[in-house]
Amino acid sequence: MTPAISTPRRGDDDRRVTCIACGETLDRDDAREYDKHGDRWSREGKAFEYLCKPCHRECCHQNRDGLEETLIAAGAGRTDRKTFLRQFCDLVAEDGDSNRTER
Ligand SMILES: [Zn+2]
Repeated sequence: MTPAISTPRRGDDDRRVTCIACGETLDRDDAREYDKHGDRWSREGKAFEYLCKPCHRECCHQNRDGLEETLIAAGAGRTDRKTFLRQFCDLVAEDGDSNRTER
């Protein structure tokens, strides 16, 4: 028989995460992943941080004007990531630099 691996007392700790904004402890299922690298596609060797829902919602109050539209226009979920990112950057740059007439 394999010897039982000594489990730490707080055995369900890996299911609990801490919100990086308010320090609240919550179930990982209830938390929102926050990836400070902003790249949720490459998960290798990364530790995700978590936000509780209220904090996540607050984070998203910034600069959301037209974000959905921009994402859709850039082909989010319909193109591969590289294409999407390039198109997204183009669109965002267009918005911010309307004075410059490069096109
Ligand atoms: Zn929080």
